[in-house]
Amino acid sequence: MEKLGRKKKKSRIPEDEIITLENVTKSYTSGAPALNGVTLHIKKGEFVFIVGDSGSGKSTLIKLLLRELVPTEGSITVMGYNLNHIRHRKIPKFRRNLGIVFQDFRLLKDRNVYENVAFAQRIVQTPSREIKKNVPSILATVGLAGKYKNKVNQLSGGEQQRVALARALVNRPTILLADEPTGNLDPNNSWEIMKLMEQINENGTTVLVVTHNREIVNAMQKRVITMKKGVVVDDEEKGVYNDED
Ligand code: ADP
Ligand code: MG
Repeated sequence: MEKLGRKKKKSRIPEDEIITLENVTKSYTSGAPALNGVTLHIKKGEFVFIVGDSGSGKSTLIKLLLRELVPTEGSITVMGYNLNHIRHRKIPKFRRNLGIVFQDFRLLKDRNVYENVAFAQRIVQTPSREIKKNVPSILATVGLAGKYKNKVNQLSGGEQQRVALARALVNRPTILLADEPTGNLDPNNSWEIMKLMEQINENGTTVLVVTHNREIVNAMQKRVITMKKGVVVDDEEKGVYNDED
């Protein structure tokens, strides 16, 4: 008994778990909390959809995972980093392992496709020799091999989201987070982006996708977490889009 007490305290989080939320509440300045006592366990290599009405706390959850926000209560661990206690100087290193895609693409509109993706590599000080190999390779993966030199504002929405996806992936993230990535896309482009994310997941990346796309969620047979008013109301393997009251 005595000996146990002297041993280094081990984390209770299983080795294969990559995202852990324990009783997480996030309150903004006023009103009901955006997240209210959320507990979640996501394993390495999972593909997870997060669905729920507007205002149910999905984007708040994504921001907490990125450590853009800190919880009001409860604890969050991502890739072994306890985000409640992570040092500020370690946050950039932590974020390097996350790829993120948004509904509105957030590209450098006056730059070309190549520059947009290369930029993500320069930020993390990738040697230029590597950048010259990695950018064409990732652009080929997302189906933009022929469009390096096109200015982003000359591309269709579907193409822009593929650039954003390439940018999110070029640093080989451990986790890909996507907040309504198909919200501005037509059905064909939505499917293509989702299929790409599935392919990325099959290559080992953990993928979390916030979406309102019922048809795709129902067809893809992945884990579906349903949120309502800041609470997880449903969490199912091979789930469906569920928005009944
Ligand atoms: P979702 O992404 O599911 O639409 P959000 O996480 O964006 O939901 O929002 C959850 C709740 O938190 C909403 O009631 C929203 O109005 C509120 N909220 C979100 N961001 C802020 C903020 N920066 N300040 C105050 N309230 C916010
Ligand atoms: Mg949102």
